[in-house]
Amino acid sequence: MNCREVQTRITAWQDQELSPGEHTQVTEHFRRCAPCRSLEARLARVTPKPFLDAPETDWSRLEDAIDEEWARPHAPAAPRWWQRTHSLPRGAVALYAAALFGALLWGVHGWRSAQTPSPNTAAGPVVPIPSEDYRPAGWTPEAPPP
Ligand SMILES: [Zn+2]
Repeated sequence: MNCREVQTRITAWQDQELSPGEHTQVTEHFRRCAPCRSLEARLARVTPKPFLDAPETDWSRLEDAIDEEWARPHAPAAPRWWQRTHSLPRGAVALYAAALFGALLWGVHGWRSAQTPSPNTAAGPVVPIPSEDYRPAGWTPEAPPP
C-alpha cells in the first residue's frame, strides 16, 4: 500500500473500520513511513474519539446539554421555498396578471381563427381552372409550347 492509499484510510484505520487485512497493511506502513505516521498522529489529535466509547459521565453531560438546548428559546425556522419572504406591489401584480390574461386571449383567438376558414376562402365553391386555360409554370405568351 503506498502513501496515498494509506492517507485516504487513516481515519478509517483510527476508527477500526478497515478490514483486518487492510488494517494490518496500514499498520505496517506506519512502521516504516515517518510522514504517514506523523499525519496519523496529527489527525488523532484533532479527530474526536468514537462516540460509543464515551464514559458514562459524558452521557449525562450530553443529556444535560440536550435538555438545555431543548429548553432554550429558538429563532423561528428559516422559511421554506413555498413560504413568502417578501411582498410585491399589488399594482405590478395586477398589471402582470392583465398582460398574462391578454396574451392568453390572444392565443385563444389565434387558435380559433386558424380553426375556422377565413371569409376569402369561404366565399364559394372552389372553381377548377379549365383545361384550355391551364399553362405550365414556364409558359410565356412570347414562346408558347409546341
Ligand atoms: Zn507513507
